[in-house]
Amino acid sequence: MNRKVCWSPEDTILTVNAIAAPSATEPLVRTTIERRDLGPRDVLIEIRYAGVCHSDIHTVRGEWGSVPYPLTVGHEIVGRVAETGGEVTKHAVGDRVGVGCMVNSCRECENCRTGQEQYCLNGNTQTYAAVDRDGTVTQGGYSTHIVVDEDFVLRVPEAIPYEAAAPLLCAGITTYSPLSHWNAGPGTRVAVVGMGGLGHMAVKIAAAMGAEVTVLSQTLAKKDDGLAFGATHYHATREAGTFEALRNSFDLIINTVSAPIDMGAYLGLLRLNGTLVSVGAPAEPLPVPVFALFGSRASFAGSSIGGIAETQRMLDFCAERGIAPEVEIIKADEINEAYERVLSSDVRYRFVIDVDTLR
Ligand SMILES: [Zn+2]
Ligand SMILES: [Zn+2]
Repeated sequence: MNRKVCWSPEDTILTVNAIAAPSATEPLVRTTIERRDLGPRDVLIEIRYAGVCHSDIHTVRGEWGSVPYPLTVGHEIVGRVAETGGEVTKHAVGDRVGVGCMVNSCRECENCRTGQEQYCLNGNTQTYAAVDRDGTVTQGGYSTHIVVDEDFVLRVPEAIPYEAAAPLLCAGITTYSPLSHWNAGPGTRVAVVGMGGLGHMAVKIAAAMGAEVTVLSQTLAKKDDGLAFGATHYHATREAGTFEALRNSFDLIINTVSAPIDMGAYLGLLRLNGTLVSVGAPAEPLPVPVFALFGSRASFAGSSIGGIAETQRMLDFCAERGIAPEVEIIKADEINEAYERVLSSDVRYRFVIDVDTLR
């Protein structure tokens, strides 16, 4: 374990290095945060890599509601188990593990009991900016260590490159879950709207599931990448005639864009019984022209990350199929510049913090 980590004299609190947002308008800064003492079912993880998700930026800037500052974000976390509580059975010291967007749930409601903790009826506990069941505010993965209940810790197969594994914990599962739920596979045609952090993973996973994949992006700037990731077709939505040419083409459309889209135009691309699923989250409501649903008995749906068991299936699937996110590794001190580049879509395709630069 790292020397800079020190348990307090009472041995109840662990102080660790982190990057935190002091307020909605200031840059992120280096600081220290506290982790709770290991409970019997807790795992202490020495974090190695942390992905930078667009949600992190929305959150620290207060765009998704009030925030308990100072706040450390990050919910794409991989590292090694450094210590385990006395009753831990699922993970051992030295294991390569991951943590995604949630660190707890009620475990008793009907959704938790069916392994869909992301839809916990009593609210799952988010990895950062949430009040944990012990009353403390959760702090995320831009830090050297985290303490998490073993049930919310995933096994990260060694076959997945270490530095590329982190984004699977949010971008990977957020796209895998709807692709799996709506049965993407041989004989289905899937369109992916947007080729960013989420979109490029949707392309890779849908192609690995055996679907015929089409990318719908504003321009053809990333066409070569999209085809290399497994797409068969790539279209520019800004080009005249694209929507007309693609009418009645897709069984499933995964919308990863968080800006408003022309719902009528996209719903018109669905085949009979097709579904348009949004995983991107625009701040404003999206108007849905109902007549666009009638013509193909279409559905408009949303989807939120995935349950713990499903997230493990996704990691195992990616390991078996040799799929990993495309990442750009940054140092801890480059985080503010990275945020600006995410906001201008200048990243291919996910920034990942090398947490060794924070020790
Ligand atoms: Zn995320
Ligand atoms: Zn629950």
